[in-house]
Amino acid sequence: MAEYRSKVLIIGSGPAGYTAGIYAARAGLAPLLISGSEVGGQLTSSPEIENYPGFNQSSSTLELMDIMQKQAMHFGVKIINDTIVETDFQHRPFECVSANHNIFLAHSVIIATGSSAKWLDISSETKFRGHGISACATCDGFFYRNQDVAVIGGGNSAAEEAVYLTNFAHSVTLIHRRDTLRADKILQDKLRKNPKITIKYNSVVEEFIGEDDPLLLQALKIRNIKNDKTETISAAGAFVAVGHQPNTRLFEGQLQLDAKGYITTAPDSCATSIEGVFAAGDVKDPIFRQAIIAAGSGAQAAIEAGRFLQH
Ligand SMILES: Cc1cc2nc3c(=O)[nH]c(=O)nc-3n(C[C@H](O)[C@H](O)[C@H](O)COP(=O)(O)OP(=O)(O)OC[C@H]3O[C@@H](n4cnc5c(N)ncnc54)[C@H](O)[C@@H]3O)c2cc1C
Repeated sequence: MAEYRSKVLIIGSGPAGYTAGIYAARAGLAPLLISGSEVGGQLTSSPEIENYPGFNQSSSTLELMDIMQKQAMHFGVKIINDTIVETDFQHRPFECVSANHNIFLAHSVIIATGSSAKWLDISSETKFRGHGISACATCDGFFYRNQDVAVIGGGNSAAEEAVYLTNFAHSVTLIHRRDTLRADKILQDKLRKNPKITIKYNSVVEEFIGEDDPLLLQALKIRNIKNDKTETISAAGAFVAVGHQPNTRLFEGQLQLDAKGYITTAPDSCATSIEGVFAAGDVKDPIFRQAIIAAGSGAQAAIEAGRFLQH
């Protein structure tokens, strides 16, 4: 157990956290960064990234996050492998306690704890994640040009992903476990008008099927929960769009959160409901959820923290 004091404490080691670190360090704020258990953030759960500017070919996500970490360390960000389990933002300096019983006292905190995609939690899904199964059509849709794909879900995200995927895919099957979609009417109309989209209502995925060596998704076995009939549909890609969970349980009762648990920030700002506490990246972004946007907001949060500390 140790006590650490810093001007800026950054929680999270994804694109938002590292970028906040780079900016805060270069502003002379000597930040401490707590990595959390997923060093490098959620991007590391996918093998490749193609849409991060400056990387003009398929790049390893591990390599990208490693470069960001090294850049942060180069400018003097002190990185501690630990997880924050308790926060007190009622007094300054703010206090955060970690799983290893360390205490972090900081005059400003940047929260970059990201969010986690919700999955179906069936064993074949775990097997093909990153090998045909994705939680992000914007990230991975491009890989399925002229192929059959499936989207699982029935809300706005699922509907948007299905429509977006028709830009590349040969066909898109939307699989939804209820008999009506939850998506907005305007999106539902778009789905129904699109000849590439088929909707399977009252249906759940029983199994993802494919090759073992190399791992390659080929089909989905789905079951109609009304008549218990199963069928196998061809799909080289499957996009699970059943929601995201922002990593904010820790901040409940401390900061203002929206109905879905995302941290609420002031318009055009990373400022939270507590002066001196900032939020960056997916933890405050239910809409875009992209690495480049998370990195941008990490930079913004660090600049705002610097201005706050000058007062
Ligand atoms: C499978 C997949 C593929 C993707 N592909 C792309 C792509 O191709 N292009 C793209 O732009 N985006 C992609 N994304 C989205 C991208 O990964 C996110 O938008 C981005 O990582 C968000 O960055 P972040 O820093 O806000 O949060 P995250 O990357 O989620 O990082 C959160 C960090 O917070 C830490 N943390 C959480 N709780 C605590 C705690 N209590 N204490 C300390 N630390 C904590 C975690 O350990 C982690 O380091 C993909 C996402 C997934 C899941």
